[in-house]
Amino acid sequence: MKNPLVLIIYTGGTIGMVNDPETGVLKPFDFEHLYNSVPELKQFAYDLEAYSMDEPIDSSEMNPSRWGEIAQTIFDNYVNYDGFVVLHGSDTMAYTASGLSFMLQGLKKPVILTGSQLPIGQIRTDGKENLITAIEIAGMKDQTGESIVQEVALYFESSLYRGNRTQKISAENFEAFSSANYVHLAEAGVHISFNKPALFRTTLKELRLKKNFCTEIGLVKLFPGMPIEPIKAYFNLENCKGVIIESFGAGNSFSNDVLKTLLSNYISAGGIVLNVTQCVTGHVNQTKYQTGKMFEQVGVISGADLTTEAALAKLMYVLAEPISLTEKKDNLTKNLFGEISEILK
Ligand code: ASP
Repeated sequence: MKNPLVLIIYTGGTIGMVNDPETGVLKPFDFEHLYNSVPELKQFAYDLEAYSMDEPIDSSEMNPSRWGEIAQTIFDNYVNYDGFVVLHGSDTMAYTASGLSFMLQGLKKPVILTGSQLPIGQIRTDGKENLITAIEIAGMKDQTGESIVQEVALYFESSLYRGNRTQKISAENFEAFSSANYVHLAEAGVHISFNKPALFRTTLKELRLKKNFCTEIGLVKLFPGMPIEPIKAYFNLENCKGVIIESFGAGNSFSNDVLKTLLSNYISAGGIVLNVTQCVTGHVNQTKYQTGKMFEQVGVISGADLTTEAALAKLMYVLAEPISLTEKKDNLTKNLFGEISEILK
């Protein structure tokens, strides 16, 4: 039996950072340092190869064009490896995981994002366990020789999550992520135990790369007493092809005629507005309350239980597709890559 071959893609993040002696702040460092800090990697019954982005970055510097570079690297190397581990800062890892789930369509191999809260060189680091287990999962196959995980997933502090369901929830705890509206894909204890029925399986025959996303979008978080004037610029097709509204509770808004007219005119002109909830669990239902009905009336699309991170990535992907406006809107409500629960409206 051949050892599994895993490609580690290093993008930066705390896991590989060191303290700058002059400024005292953490900054990204090269992959060599990280590799040498984990001697366990040399004992692994896996073959590992690494690819480092030209300049490792703090994940706050990530953007869809850099997601595209990661996706392209995986696409170009897809047939040669059993799985992929993307080392990434935790701050925007949920956004990148969501983005990659729409960029790499038809995956039959694992793409596991991981990182850490403490640099790998620090004694109490969470980085070693995260890295080692992420690699192990990336090489795991079932009895038929197929990869167990066939999607973009995120591994952190003993749990494996579906990437496009995750959110970063703590800047302090090692358990830094949650996937509040979808069950965990696996738990790593003494054994790595998979929740097999929860794993995503594609119906696509081949891997497709969709890396050109439309970034002309807006995100508006409602708050009590919010003035409408400052958000008017978003509802103009020249600046913005789509807007996500983070609404209250089950998808509700305060009553405001200016907002209603703004939304109505924008949607009639061909703009797309997607409604996601500010709540961590539960979903949007625009027919439940009087205060949510306004969205339904003007043609806002319910984002059901999409996270904001997944909604942003999905909207960027859908807007860039060469399909009709109706098809774009339909795709937003469909479950494409496990990002949304279909039964919820
Ligand atoms: N600022 C870091 C980053 O996201 C935090 C981390 O990696 O945990 O790159």
